[in-house]
Amino acid sequence: MKESSVKLVLTFPKETWDKPVIYKLVKDYDLVVNILRAEILPKMEGSAVLELKGDSESIKKAVKFLKGINVKVRPLELDIFREDEKCIHCGACIAPCPTNAFYLDPVTFRVEFDKTKCVGCGHCIPACPTRIIYSPEF
Ligand code: SF4
Ligand code: SF4
Repeated sequence: MKESSVKLVLTFPKETWDKPVIYKLVKDYDLVVNILRAEILPKMEGSAVLELKGDSESIKKAVKFLKGINVKVRPLELDIFREDEKCIHCGACIAPCPTNAFYLDPVTFRVEFDKTKCVGCGHCIPACPTRIIYSPEF
């Protein structure tokens, strides 16, 4: 048994909104599931950023299961940058960020970016009204 961990971005079709998908990952594939972010609303397409830990073969089987129920799966791999000098500190990137990599400095009231906390999910990119958050891969 080879222990492994992987961070994935999942996009759920609206048909799965009420299905116990996470429960199955834990019960059927014996994985530890860390939910970094989730947006699931009734009868709508949803998304989540998950970290899966467990046997590498079980992770592969779990991903196959997810794809089998039409969940789109992609690895977290974006390298995120911001054009700091163009930031208007509106804060729109704070809420979508699952790891608080974007945060409000309580002293300066400026929005700062801590790249060491970024997991590359890409949720901040479309949230920025000035389009100054980017990734070379995006
Ligand atoms: S990609 Fe953006 S939203 Fe995702 S963790 Fe990094 S800074 Fe936060
Ligand atoms: S959303 Fe864009 S402009 Fe607004 S604080 Fe974040 S990086 Fe700056």
